[in-house]
Amino acid sequence: MSTSTVNVGGLFLIEIVIIEHLLSAFMGMTLWKNKGGDPSGAFILCAILGILGVVILAIGKPGRKEIDRVARSQGLVPCPNCAELINYQARVCPYCGRDVAPATGSQL
Ligand SMILES: [Zn+2]
Repeated sequence: MSTSTVNVGGLFLIEIVIIEHLLSAFMGMTLWKNKGGDPSGAFILCAILGILGVVILAIGKPGRKEIDRVARSQGLVPCPNCAELINYQARVCPYCGRDVAPATGSQL
């Protein structure tokens, strides 16, 4: 526990790196998911790159296509008024409170 007398063996170092990459993978996955990105891709990136992957995801943003793909897989569509992701069956947007046309594309 004392930081002054750490004798880092090779095996111990590898364990630290594996744990660090696993933690980074979960951090990156959560971070990316919150940004609307694909969590499985973020998990793999951070598992490979470690904390560097988290930094990349923290700076970057998921592409429009990726957000749409993830959102649609969760049954979400962007609100035509405020662009927040809402349930495709919603008639009133919970974010801006305006009426939303059903996602069938038919409008009066
Ligand atoms: Zn809205």
